[in-house]
Amino acid sequence: MCHIWKNPTHPIEEVSVRELEKLPKGFDNLNITGGEPTLRKDLYEIVTVLYRKARILEISSNGLHADKLEPIVRKYPAVKIRFSVEAFGGLNDRIRGEPQGFETKLKGLRRLRELGGKDLGFATVIQDDNAHQLLELYRFAMRERFEFSTSALHNAFQFHKNDNYPYDRLKLAKELEKLITEMLSSDSIKNWFRAYLNLGLIKKILGQDRLIACTAATDFVFVDPWSDVYACNVRPDLLMGNLQQQTWAEIMSSEVASSIRLRVAACTQNCWMVTTARTAMRNPHIPQLPKMGPLTWVLKNKLKLIIGRSIDLRGMIDYSLIHKDGEGPKRQYYLNQVVKRTLQYKDQPHYQQGEFFNK
Ligand code: SF4
Repeated sequence: MCHIWKNPTHPIEEVSVRELEKLPKGFDNLNITGGEPTLRKDLYEIVTVLYRKARILEISSNGLHADKLEPIVRKYPAVKIRFSVEAFGGLNDRIRGEPQGFETKLKGLRRLRELGGKDLGFATVIQDDNAHQLLELYRFAMRERFEFSTSALHNAFQFHKNDNYPYDRLKLAKELEKLITEMLSSDSIKNWFRAYLNLGLIKKILGQDRLIACTAATDFVFVDPWSDVYACNVRPDLLMGNLQQQTWAEIMSSEVASSIRLRVAACTQNCWMVTTARTAMRNPHIPQLPKMGPLTWVLKNKLKLIIGRSIDLRGMIDYSLIHKDGEGPKRQYYLNQVVKRTLQYKDQPHYQQGEFFNK
């Protein structure tokens, strides 16, 4: 799914606690992601600095080192933690190259809950190899009282990957339909809106335009390991500034930022990652609340399920429009392979490829 592991950063070059302190208070959501956040020796200090700056502070981890998160959960039980879980048992372990990975993550999440963790869950990337387990994995997460968030394969400079495409788009979309119905049938308001997010994922997987326009550079940004601030983690040409050299206010109010916002408005990528989708779905003034579009869809279809009718998916998605893959690169594929670790980073530019495509 990504080649960050082939392009590691030098710890000495990575964004420091001092630079993160420069961020203002008042974010709705901050997500510490990777690579792998638990590799940072100062993760506890990073959380201490960022916790008071956001309504929700999230750590996205591979879940193999839950012990590193224990002191954080003890002190900050409300920190949101998501472990990457692609499938049950052996399939997760083969997709991710993690011996005993599934068991390790499950044990880790259960331990964090014992310590008081309040917002723990799985994060799953939907792909051809795990789509058939999606519904059962969701049900398992619900039985375990964990959250369940989904995304789909994407290409992005952050991932150093430009060949992440599904093989059987229709099959994936059909599996997602089952998940959408199940989520909307649940008693959890969060899951109702996740159903809408998954509706957007169907459009992404089929190669169709986004459900709601992107608000990168306005409602969210991506800070990379070198403190560079980008509109998003997909397009390396949307560089807004650098936290080492500038303040947050300077970056966000610069002419560069204004011109980048215009380019975002014209962006034709149809990416629909958790951050880009969730942000697009929320009311820009009161981010705890949804925009009218998602709210109306959720209420209308929840009502349909209550009165015994089925959800209207055909009205939202045109199944005759499925993107035909061209002659693009075939996905570099590691399932069932033992891959020798060959590092690519040798004082070369951080991101070698200029353009990334999501259709
Ligand atoms: S739609 Fe364009 S600007 Fe928005 S996240 Fe995707 S690549 Fe970035």
